Amino acid sequence: MLLALAAAQPFVGFGVANRDELSQPGRMVVYALIVFGVLEGVLWLVTRWGSSLNGRTVALLETWFAVSFFNYAAWLPPSIDDDRRWIPVAVWTLVTALVAWLLARVGSRPALRVGAAVWLAVSVGADLLVVATPSLPVAAPATHDAALPPPVPSEGPPPNIYYFVLDEYARADQLEIHAGFDNGAFVTRLEELGLTVSDAAWASYPRTQVSVPSTLDMAYLAEPGAADGPDAQFAPRVAGDNAVVRRLREHGYSFVYSSGAADQWSSCQTPLADRCLEPTGVAAGDLERALLKQTPLSVFDLVRPPYSDPETVLAELRTEPVREPYFLFAHVMSPHFPYRFDASCAVRDRFIVAELLSFDERKAAYVNDVRCLNDRVERALEQIVADDPGAVVIVQSDHGSALFANWDRSPGAWSEAAIADRFAVLQAIRLPAHCPAAGDVDLVNTFRVVFSCIEDQPVDLLPHRAFLWMGHDLVTLEEVDPSTFDR
Ligand SMILES: [Zn+2]
Repeated sequence: MLLALAAAQPFVGFGVANRDELSQPGRMVVYALIVFGVLEGVLWLVTRWGSSLNGRTVALLETWFAVSFFNYAAWLPPSIDDDRRWIPVAVWTLVTALVAWLLARVGSRPALRVGAAVWLAVSVGADLLVVATPSLPVAAPATHDAALPPPVPSEGPPPNIYYFVLDEYARADQLEIHAGFDNGAFVTRLEELGLTVSDAAWASYPRTQVSVPSTLDMAYLAEPGAADGPDAQFAPRVAGDNAVVRRLREHGYSFVYSSGAADQWSSCQTPLADRCLEPTGVAAGDLERALLKQTPLSVFDLVRPPYSDPETVLAELRTEPVREPYFLFAHVMSPHFPYRFDASCAVRDRFIVAELLSFDERKAAYVNDVRCLNDRVERALEQIVADDPGAVVIVQSDHGSALFANWDRSPGAWSEAAIADRFAVLQAIRLPAHCPAAGDVDLVNTFRVVFSCIEDQPVDLLPHRAFLWMGHDLVTLEEVDPSTFDR
C-alpha cells in the first residue's frame, strides 16, 4: 500500500503540474507501475536475504527514498554554474541519507507508517481529483480552410519551398529597444541574399501552439466568442495537417518536416510528412526528459536536449534525395530558451535554463543565441541560394521574445511595449525572380503571398488582427486593439 502510493505520487504530481499540456497520460501510468515493481522487487530482495530491518521498515525507507528522489528538483533548484552543479546533488544525498538513518531507527513504530500512508494518500488523492477534472473543456478543433479559390496549376515546375521558423526571434527594432542589440548586419545579409526583410511584420497569436497553425492555415483560428478550450488544440496542425500542406500537395509537392522541439505535440509523423528530419541529441521524448529533470539524475546529462538549426536541417535533407518539388518546414527551437550557445557560439553540452537567470542575464543569453543563430542561418541561406536559386525561402519567427511575457496577466493588462515585443516578428521572404518582392507580410499572410507567386494569382491578404489570452485557456481570449499595431 505504502509502496503503491509512493510510486504513484511523483507521476500524479507531475500530471497536476502539466495537466494542460499532458499528451500521454497512459505512459505515466506505465512508469508508475514500473517504479512500483522496482520498489516491490527491492523489498522482496532485502527481506529475503536477511536484513536486520523488518519488511515494514524497509518499505518505509523505500517510500522516503522514492518521494525524495522524484521531488529533487522541487526541493533543490539546479545550479546553473557548471562547476557547482554537484552541490545540490550532494545536499540531496546527505539529507536523504540522514532522514533514512533516522527512519531506520524509529521505523518500526506503526504510527510512523500510518502517518506516511495517510499523508501520501491525501496528497495522491487530491492530485488525482485535480487531474481527473480537466481544467479546460476540450473542444474539437474546427477545420479552418483558407477560403482561397481552388489551386491554379503554375506554369513550369513549381519551386522548392524552404520554410524556417526560428522560435521566439524578435524583430530587429525590438531587439534594439529591449536588449540594446543591433541586428542590422544580419538584416543586410538577408537582403544581399535576395530576401525581403519586413520591418513591420506582426504575429497574430503570442504562443507557438496557435501562431504556427494560424500561419499554416492562412487563417485566424481563434477569435473572441469563437474560442474555447486549451490553446494546444491547434498544435497537431504543425506536423502537416494544415491548409498550406494540403494545397501544396495538390500542386504535387512532397512535405519534409523537421520538428526541432522533439515535443510530442509537434513531432513528425509519416505519412503526414513524407520525410522526417530529426534533431540531434534526442534520446527520449519530452515527457521522459521532463520526468528525469525532476530527479537527481538530471545532473548526469543522460538525455541530451534536442538541437537543430537551419544548417543541420539542410545537411540532413541532403543525405538522401527527396522528391521535388518539396516543402521543407523546419521548426527551429532557437533563440527560444533554454539557451544553446556559449560565448564562442559553440553548442553547449547543457543548455541554460532561463528561469535560473536574472532579467539582465537572460537578456544577454537571449541576444547571444540570436547572434550565434544568425551565423548558421546565413550559411544555410548561402547554400540554398547557390544550389537552388529559384526556390522560395522564408525565414520568420512565430512570436517575439519572452522577456515581458506573463501569462497570468489578463489581456487588458499587457502594456503596449510588451505587446509590441511579443507580436513583432522576424519576417524575411525570398520569392523567385518572376514574382513581385514581398513587402511587409504579417505571419497570417505568409503563404497567401507564396501561393499568389507560385499560382500567378492576385494576392488575397487578410487584415492583421491579434489576440491575447491568459494561461492556456482560450475562453479568456480578447482581440488586441488594432491601433496598437499601426505602422
Ligand atoms: Zn514559439
